[in-house]
Amino acid sequence: MTSGDNHVRDVIIIGGGPAGLTAGIYTSRSRLDSLLTEKGLFGGQITNAEWVENFPGFPDGISGIDLGQQIHDQAARFGLETILTEVTGLELQGNLKVVKTTDGDFTARAIILAGGSNRQKLGVTGEEEFAGKGVSYCATCDAAFFVDRPVAVAGGGDAAITEALHLAKLTSKVTVIHRRDQLRATKILQEKAFAEPKIDFAWDSVVERIEGKDFVQGLRLRNVKTDQNSDLEVAGLFVSIGFRPDTDYLKGLLALDDIGQIITNEKMETGIAGIFAAGDIRQNSGRQAITAAGDGATAAIYTEKYLTNF
Ligand SMILES: Cc1cc2nc3c(=O)[nH]c(=O)nc-3n(C[C@H](O)[C@H](O)[C@H](O)COP(=O)(O)OP(=O)(O)OC[C@H]3O[C@@H](n4cnc5c(N)ncnc54)[C@H](O)[C@@H]3O)c2cc1C
Repeated sequence: MTSGDNHVRDVIIIGGGPAGLTAGIYTSRSRLDSLLTEKGLFGGQITNAEWVENFPGFPDGISGIDLGQQIHDQAARFGLETILTEVTGLELQGNLKVVKTTDGDFTARAIILAGGSNRQKLGVTGEEEFAGKGVSYCATCDAAFFVDRPVAVAGGGDAAITEALHLAKLTSKVTVIHRRDQLRATKILQEKAFAEPKIDFAWDSVVERIEGKDFVQGLRLRNVKTDQNSDLEVAGLFVSIGFRPDTDYLKGLLALDDIGQIITNEKMETGIAGIFAAGDIRQNSGRQAITAAGDGATAAIYTEKYLTNF
């Protein structure tokens, strides 16, 4: 199917990552008339992970591409209808919801928003080239690849310092590179970081360039106050300068926080009856494939309950 239609479905799931596909497994198995829309690659962000070691059921790990494909195949086995298209708007029509896409409009009784979120990039030379080869956006995912090796974290907020503390348990040294002369992270995290002997700080500094051969070997830093360059030998760089979900089209309709994440309760309800959100798109997400999948299952269960009384 390639264009909008007048058929009113039970549920439309927006986003084909672990959250959306898991929601689709549940809604399709429950025989709800379900459509999932994906604008890029089925599987979502996890398809960028070289190797995933923390998704249950794969004791030896699995490549991100294979994991994304397998979740997709599992949903397809239950007959989940999918379409490759970008959602650009969502409107209410009584208690029906109209999903605007680049391929026309689709209507449903319920919606599960599972569009994920994008990790902000530094935009420096070497970042694309070494992604997955020393450049990472997730310490929980990739710290284990850097045991007893020096790494750096770019950022100074809660997420960056949490990642630095996690990395300090496994790596030989963690340098936190921060563009200011003090951290933005909460005081308690700062105290922990300052007390951790393996963590040190490159203040007033930014990453200019990421260097290496096949894998990251070092960073060229620039002090923003003195304009002086320096080199830092590291095997990995963890970029933790923020997340931003693609929720502009939901502004004015749903409660979003200051960076555009959707606010939900523990049933994944958004505040508008019949609109649910799951995975990295929502505030306080665990930002892991398994937590996204769990959110997707929860959203699907409460979608089914909602539709029972529709
Ligand atoms: C390099 C890397 C390594 C990682 N490693 C691990 C790991 O080892 N273990 C782990 O548990 N987690 C890991 N993660 C995190 C994990 O991938 C995410 O937490 C998880 O994929 C979030 O799932 P999601 O379904 O909420 O969102 P996503 O996976 O981001 O999926 C959202 C999907 O929605 C689509 N979409 C967005 N907006 C629209 C729209 N308007 N219309 C249509 N489609 C839309 C996107 O194209 C995307 O495919 C890693 C992430 C990265 C980037």
